[in-house]
Amino acid sequence: METNRIERSRTGSQFPIAIVGGGFTGALVAAQLLRKSRGTVSVVLIEKGARLGFGVAYGTQCKEHLLNVPAKNMSAYPDDPEHFLRWARSNYDSGAQPDDFLPRLVYGQYADSLLREEIERHPGQFERVEDEVVSVDRAGNRAQVNLRSGRTLLADKVVLALGHFPPGDLRFPGKPAQSRHYVANPWTNRAIGDLASNQSVLLVGSGLTSVDVVLSLRKHGFRGTIHIVSRRGLLPQVHKAISPWPSFLDEKSPKTARALLRLIRAQVEAAERLGGDWRSVIDSLRPFTQDIWRSLPRPDQQRFLRHLRPYWDVHRHRIASEIGTLLAAETMTGRIQTHKGRITKYLEDIDGVDVTYRERKTGEPKRLYVNRVINCTGPEGDYRKVGHALLTNLLQRKMVRPDPLFLGLDVASDGALIDADGVASDILYTLGPVRKGGLWETIAVPEIRVQASELAALLLAGRELAVREKGTMHSEQSYLGCLSHASYMLASEGEAIVVDPQQDVDIYFKAAVQKGVADA
Ligand SMILES: Cc1cc2nc3c(=O)[nH]c(=O)nc-3n(C[C@H](O)[C@H](O)[C@H](O)COP(=O)(O)OP(=O)(O)OC[C@H]3O[C@@H](n4cnc5c(N)ncnc54)[C@H](O)[C@@H]3O)c2cc1C
Repeated sequence: METNRIERSRTGSQFPIAIVGGGFTGALVAAQLLRKSRGTVSVVLIEKGARLGFGVAYGTQCKEHLLNVPAKNMSAYPDDPEHFLRWARSNYDSGAQPDDFLPRLVYGQYADSLLREEIERHPGQFERVEDEVVSVDRAGNRAQVNLRSGRTLLADKVVLALGHFPPGDLRFPGKPAQSRHYVANPWTNRAIGDLASNQSVLLVGSGLTSVDVVLSLRKHGFRGTIHIVSRRGLLPQVHKAISPWPSFLDEKSPKTARALLRLIRAQVEAAERLGGDWRSVIDSLRPFTQDIWRSLPRPDQQRFLRHLRPYWDVHRHRIASEIGTLLAAETMTGRIQTHKGRITKYLEDIDGVDVTYRERKTGEPKRLYVNRVINCTGPEGDYRKVGHALLTNLLQRKMVRPDPLFLGLDVASDGALIDADGVASDILYTLGPVRKGGLWETIAVPEIRVQASELAALLLAGRELAVREKGTMHSEQSYLGCLSHASYMLASEGEAIVVDPQQDVDIYFKAAVQKGVADA
């Protein structure tokens, strides 16, 4: 069995913390662990792709893909809110302003650079492994991390930073399992690569993924018509300079989706009466969104997902105004056509697809002929369906379970994954998009940076405690009934001696395990 290069950290008997997934979240946890540690940690980051820090969101090559959060709110470090802005001014554009929406690929470079910086500052404490984790086993009170290559790593703790999965497959009446004009994953080159510039495209879903694909298509010289179909035909709203709105929620606030909606509408009307904007009211909810979500009874969470989610998404996840201007201009000229309805028929021929949808308002069938259909319905949250080797394995072996809303996994408040029996793991942790079911507001940088910082602190605290305990001398005195005198076990740093033992040595092993000075 080949084990870790960094087999044991400088603390002597501890194994590294393994992070699975090197997108923004995994890279940030690694950086935080190194940054906060005082030489007490080694980190192994396992990423199947070539780059660290970029992931799905920031791995784009298209500089027209802009952040949907202004630069002033994109620091990776909660204790240093200007960090990204300073970095951007030094490394990208000296004139970058706090309210600028910078290219996402620049943000990927930022995430990459902050990890590199910490690696350089902590020589010998970081290992990067380019491989895929396919399963994790418990090995005593540690984890054995199994890689696609056959290699095995031992770790004290494992952090799953698995991020986003491609959209769930779309099934339309008439659509073959292998449709040649259908693209299931909008984040691959195949989505736009070989389209002739004057063909037509249908994007299914009208959220941020669709906006990204529109921008990519135009960047690649695609001049044809872009059709967008979604149930409600709602495109993301546009950011605008706003003044803050005072928070209006407290412990007496309503605890149902309907009453909360009424309250928020009333606040929007009040803001508008004062010459303000609905955006201020929505943004004022941000610090409370997780608490609101947790306080809603399950049926209300489900009601929200069924009826309100599309409206919430377009108002909460807004786009930079320059992108909004481009979409509006293309909509005016008919180069982008948005349709409200549900697709009811999909008939493909050699050149394209004849799509029928039932129009939402009239119920009438409408037809479109397009050369390509791209699934832009957003990341799949039902992990039973994502076909991800590691998740499938952990789910099958009941080491994790989906959250009750099937938006990710069930996770304890400190980030520990919860198994099928409802027990929080002491070795498997997670953060970011995986926590959507429990927190709702958890996928963007302002939340991920807090989770990364807190999780790193938690894992390091546990480690330092273990180090202190390892440095402590334990003594155990046993009266065994069959002997008239006592026997003694003295243990320290994982080693024990027994003075005057009786023959049944198991009794001392059990005592050592209970004291945490030996593995079970
Ligand atoms: C298109 C898009 C744009 C966004 N824009 C913004 C924005 O402007 N502002 C903002 O605040 N937030 C934005 N977000 C949200 C946020 O920043 C992302 O949620 C965040 O980047 C998530 O990163 P991640 O590392 O958790 O996931 P991902 O980026 O999905 O990375 C997960 C990584 O894990 C790896 N991986 C998965 N399984 C394994 C395995 N078994 N073994 C090894 N490696 C594995 C994958 O290869 C991948 O690199 C955006 C999200 C998306 C999708």
